Amino acid sequence: MTQFIASHTDGKICLVGAPYDSTTSYRPGARFSPAAIREASQSLETFSFQQLFDLEDCSFMDTGDLNLPFGDPRPALEEIETAVTELLEQNKLPFLIGGEHLTSLGAVKAIAKRNPSMKVIHLDAHADLREDYLGQKLSHATVMKRIADIVGIDSIRQYGVRSCTQDEYILGKDLRADPGQILSWAEGSPCYITCDLDILDPSVLPGTGTPEPGGISFQELTDALIELIGNLSVAGMDVVELAPHYDPSGVSSVVAAKIIRESLIALSKKKEQAVGN
Ligand code: MN
Ligand code: MN
Repeated sequence: MTQFIASHTDGKICLVGAPYDSTTSYRPGARFSPAAIREASQSLETFSFQQLFDLEDCSFMDTGDLNLPFGDPRPALEEIETAVTELLEQNKLPFLIGGEHLTSLGAVKAIAKRNPSMKVIHLDAHADLREDYLGQKLSHATVMKRIADIVGIDSIRQYGVRSCTQDEYILGKDLRADPGQILSWAEGSPCYITCDLDILDPSVLPGTGTPEPGGISFQELTDALIELIGNLSVAGMDVVELAPHYDPSGVSSVVAAKIIRESLIALSKKKEQAVGN
C-alpha cells in the first residue's frame, strides 16, 4: 500500500510537498511533514470506510517535494507559486502538503490569479490575521492577513479558531462560521481550502508547532472536509503544520495521512466539477 508515493505518477489531483518551516514561531519541524505523511500513509487501507470509495479508483498523483530554500520566505513562496501555476497550466488540481502555514500563500497567489472571485476556507485553531509578527509581514501567524490582501477579507471564512489577539478577534468577527454556514456562503464560487492541522485537539494531533487545547475531534474535521469538498467547487487545497517529531508515537502523522486520504477521495468523487475542467 504505497498510497501517496511513486506508484501514483499521473492523475488529476496533484500532491505537492512544501517542506518549509522558517517562520514558525514556537516549535519548528513542519518541514518533515510531507515525508512523514507519505510514510504513515502506508499503514492505512486505500478503502475509505466512511465514504465507501477506494483511493485506488481516484485520479491523483504525487509530484514529490519542492526544493525550497530556507531563511527568507520570499524565494520559497515564489517557488511554490511557480510550481502551482505549472500544475494549473496542466489542468491539475493542486493539493499542497506543508510545511508551515505560510506555504499556503504561494498556492493561493497562483490560484487566485486564475480565479479572482475565489473564496478561501480556513480551518485552524488560530486566526493567523496579524498584520505582522515580530516585525515580519510574512509569517505563519500572518498568512491569512496576507491572503486577505489578495482575495479581500470578505472572501475568507474561518472554522475552528479558538486563539488570537484581541485585534484579530475583532477583525475576524464576521469570518467565524460553522461548516454548514460556510457551505451556503461559498456555494457556486471557486474555493480554496486551507487546513491547519492544529484545528484538531492536541489529544488527537500533538505533533504540531503550536498546539492549542480545546480543539475539534478527528471525526468532526473529517465530516467537515467531506461536506465542504463534496458540495463546493474546490480549485485547490492544502494540509499544513504537521510537525511529526513532536509526537514520538507517530499517530499524528497517521491522522494527517488519513485526513489527506479522505480529502483525496472526496475531491476525486467531485473532480468533474473542479475548476479548470
Ligand atoms: Mn495556521
Ligand atoms: Mn494554527
